[in-house]
Amino acid sequence: MSRKNKQPSPCNEQDLKRKCPETGSPVIIAISAKLVFTEQNMSPGPAFSFVKALKAVNAELREHYPESQELFKVILIDDNRSDELNKSIKKHRLITCDIISGEDLINKLKENNTHLYLSGSEEMVKEALKNEIAAAVMKTPEKMAEVSESELHIAFDGDAVLFSNESESVYASEGLEAFYKNEREKVNDPMKEGPFKGFLEVLLKLQRKLHDNCPIRTYLVTSRGGGCPGFRALNTLRDWGLEIDEAFCLGGSNKGPKLETIRPHVFFDDQDSHIKDALKFGIVGCHFDGSNLAGRM
Ligand SMILES: [Mg+2]
Repeated sequence: MSRKNKQPSPCNEQDLKRKCPETGSPVIIAISAKLVFTEQNMSPGPAFSFVKALKAVNAELREHYPESQELFKVILIDDNRSDELNKSIKKHRLITCDIISGEDLINKLKENNTHLYLSGSEEMVKEALKNEIAAAVMKTPEKMAEVSESELHIAFDGDAVLFSNESESVYASEGLEAFYKNEREKVNDPMKEGPFKGFLEVLLKLQRKLHDNCPIRTYLVTSRGGGCPGFRALNTLRDWGLEIDEAFCLGGSNKGPKLETIRPHVFFDDQDSHIKDALKFGIVGCHFDGSNLAGRM
């Protein structure tokens, strides 16, 4: 099987800017403020440690590239707590955040060239994904696992997340044997891109700037097994020129125990069962419904 030539997909100027940021432009992460500080008493929410780790990476980037704007920028979305939020951000010495209201949010996310949007609202996540912004609903574990404050760990599922859901559709419509056959025949054919490929791409761009001392660690945690299904996932990443730090092909096992060893600040998956499993192990799971995206992938 020969590798397919990659054809640039048609996209407008704004899409292009978001997907391929100019050198020196920040990686924009928009988060519902309620996920960083709870509404009840402004105590740390599920996104708090993630935002803290972004600051640690920024500090490293600033040390090596004091003039560059190529670092993480966080936008918090909140309608009426900006004073309280600013106080809490200062108190916890978080990364400096811009605070915007939720009005006309999708347009604001697009104008800001947002690379990742995390929310508590399924409706808003659906809207963002429709507009080709990587987005997920962040879920809170009952008891959060301890995560690093000096490194940023991010874990991704493969199918329908980094990759399109083309193989999953074969499994869903024709069964397991047809899926294996498909992966065997197409083992060297890269899959199409999924909604989070662009976010991984900008993470790895920052990672490359810091070489060996980089505090960013990226992980693929997929239900694909070894053999052709696993190879196809790795071949796809290689074809895209994306070097993920570690890839785990779990062959259908529960993802929770592996995630517990990785301790990611965020884990992205389109399957509710994997998110529930992650939560059981104290991992912050970020979920979206990949089936909405079937039409455009
Ligand atoms: Mg999946």
